[in-house]
Amino acid sequence: MSRTGIANPGSFADPDPRFPFPHSPAPTRCQSEPATFDFAKGDRSGESRAATEQRLDRARQACSGCPIVKDCLRWALVNEDLTRVGVFAATTPVQRVVLRKRLADRLGPDWIDVLADQDQARRERSAAARHTPLTANQTRIVRLDRDANGPMRVPLTPAQQQRNRARLLAGLTAA
Ligand code: SF4
Repeated sequence: MSRTGIANPGSFADPDPRFPFPHSPAPTRCQSEPATFDFAKGDRSGESRAATEQRLDRARQACSGCPIVKDCLRWALVNEDLTRVGVFAATTPVQRVVLRKRLADRLGPDWIDVLADQDQARRERSAAARHTPLTANQTRIVRLDRDANGPMRVPLTPAQQQRNRARLLAGLTAA
């Protein structure tokens, strides 16, 4: 498999859907210069070992300045079958084998599932944080209610609700 598939991640067979290939705000160097990252043939015929090493260095340097390097590495580690060759996130295939082993040692044999769960929890926290915050008046009402009634007891009787409403409105007017 050619490393150049990175220019079109959708062309890969069966990437793990829980880890979409990261979006880059600008074309990545592996998209604009795929040959630099393609080590599928090792030392290519006609390319000296020194030239291959130089190419590897160029790929690594490009990755080190890439805005999606962190998520690219995650994607490459998770999708082992799709990244058996080539440079991803400044790592070679051998380095990725070592990194996967470290992850398995740290998170257990189901480390990919653990990462997916962590991502899901992060997404849920972000979604919760995006909820519209209370307005200043709503915050004041909540505070007044807590001061007047202490922790919420359910259910409040209609008379209690009426009394609370009157108190809160009076408090708001005075504030
Ligand atoms: S980190 Fe490297 S391999 Fe990954 S998208 Fe960026 S340039 Fe490509």
